[in-house]
Amino acid sequence: MSTQPVTFHPARRFKDNARTALADGKLRGSLRGAMDFLMDKRLAAFPDTAELASLRTLGEAIRQRCLSTLPELLEQLEASLTRNGVTVHWAATPDDANRIIHGLVQARAGRLMVKGKSMVSEEIELNHYLEARGITALESDMGEYIVQMAGEKPTHIIMPAIHKTREDIAALFHEHIPGAPYTEDVDALIRIGRNALREAYLNADVGLSGVNFAVAETGTLCLVENEGNGRMCTTVPDMHIAITGIEKVVEKLEDVVPLFSLLTRSAIGQPITTYFNMISGPRRPGEKDGPREVHLVLLDNGRSQAYADAQMRKTLQCIRCGACMNHCPVYSRIGGHAYGTTYPGPIGEILSPHLIGLDDTRDLPTASTLCGACAEVCPVRIPIPDMLIRLREESQRPPGEPTVHPLRGQGAAHSAAESLAWKTWRRVYASVSAYRLFGWSASRLRGLTPSRQAGWTQNHVPLKPAAKTLHERVRERQASKGSPR
Ligand code: SF4
Repeated sequence: MSTQPVTFHPARRFKDNARTALADGKLRGSLRGAMDFLMDKRLAAFPDTAELASLRTLGEAIRQRCLSTLPELLEQLEASLTRNGVTVHWAATPDDANRIIHGLVQARAGRLMVKGKSMVSEEIELNHYLEARGITALESDMGEYIVQMAGEKPTHIIMPAIHKTREDIAALFHEHIPGAPYTEDVDALIRIGRNALREAYLNADVGLSGVNFAVAETGTLCLVENEGNGRMCTTVPDMHIAITGIEKVVEKLEDVVPLFSLLTRSAIGQPITTYFNMISGPRRPGEKDGPREVHLVLLDNGRSQAYADAQMRKTLQCIRCGACMNHCPVYSRIGGHAYGTTYPGPIGEILSPHLIGLDDTRDLPTASTLCGACAEVCPVRIPIPDMLIRLREESQRPPGEPTVHPLRGQGAAHSAAESLAWKTWRRVYASVSAYRLFGWSASRLRGLTPSRQAGWTQNHVPLKPAAKTLHERVRERQASKGSPR
C-alpha cells in the first residue's frame, strides 16, 4: 500500500488548529453525527442507572487497588509472562521502545509488520520509525488502515477515522488500493479493505498489537476487538510483539470481567465485543498455530511522573473507552486532530502533559468548559475537571518554584507581568479605600480603554469600565428617591 506523508498537528498550535476545525463545516457535520450516535449507544447500553453506578464504583476500586501496588504487580507480571515463555522488555522512553521493537524485527530480517490497533504504538510514532529503516508497518484495524492511507493520525482513540465520510473512504480506496473500483457501498468497501489486508497477514514477518489488560497473576495479555484483525496479527506471523503502557496491569483475571463490561459498553454501547483474545505465550509443542515468539514491551514515557503524584495518579485509571471524548462539548466540535496529541479530548488533556510535558501542551488544560460531562460518564470515575484545574495551576506555577512533585514543563504558561498584575489586583481588592480609588480612576479614564485587548477581543466586545462607580450610582439613586417630586 502506498502511504502519504503523515500530517502532524503539534499541540503548541492548538488554538489555531481549533479555529480551523471550527470553520470546517464538513468536519463539524461528521463529528456531530458520530458523537450523537455514540452517546445514544452508550445510553442504551446502561438502561439500569443503579447497575451502572455500582459497576463504576467497582471499576474505580479495581483500578485504584491495582495502581496502589503497581511496582509489585509489574514485577509479578514479568515473572508470570516469563514463566509462560513471553519475553518482557522495559522502555523508559518512546525511543527505547522503538529501538527494542526495531531490534526484534531486525533479528528476524523482517521487512513487513502487520499491526492490530495500538494507541501506544501511535504514541511512540512506531510506523515512521520503522519506515525510516526500511520496514513497512501496515495497520490492519479498518479505521487505522484508512487514516494511515490518508497520511493522518487517528482522530479518536476508539474510532480512528470517525471524521471521514463514506465518500472520503471510497476515494481513498480507489486511489490507493490497486484494482479497487470507486464505490460508496459500505459492505463493499470493507470487503475491499479486508481482501487487501489478507495478503499482508500471510506475508508479514511480525505482528504487533496493543494490550487492554495485562493480568499479573496469570501472565495473560487481554486484547479487545471487533474485526478479528487483532487475532490475525497475534497468531499468523511467527513473532508477536505486544506493546502497552505500564498502567494497564491488573492483579487477577476476575478484575478483567467488570472492566471489560465497562469498556465495551462505554465505548460503543456493545455488551461484549466480537473477539476477546487472551494471549498466554507462544505456540507450544504439538500446537498447530500461533507465533513462535511473543514479546511484551512495557512503556513508561512519563507515566511514572503521573504515578508519583497522588492526585495525578488517577489519570492512570483510564481504560481508554473514549466516552469522555464523545461527551465533551469541545472535542465534539473540533475533533481529535486539533489537539495535536496522540490522545485527544479530556483524557488527552490530562494524560498528554505527562507524556510530552506542559511546554508543548500548555493550552490543553484550558480547552475545557469544566462542564463535568467527562467525569460524569467516565466508567472508572476519573475526576477529570479537578485534574484540569490542577494542571492549569501547574502551568502557571513559576518555573523552579519548589513543589512536592514538579511536573515537566512547570510554569509553561507563566507570565511574570500577568502574575504581577494579579498580585497587585489582590491587594487592591483586599483594601476598601484602594478598591474605591481604583474604581473611581477607572471610570474617569474609561475613554483610554484600548479597542483591542489581547485574545479577549477576538470573540468579545472590548471590556470598558462603567461611566460611574457602583457607589456613585447608589448615591444618585438614594438622592433621587429622597428628593421631593
Ligand atoms: S478518562 Fe474515563 S471516559 Fe475517558 S477514555 Fe479514560 S476511562 Fe474512558
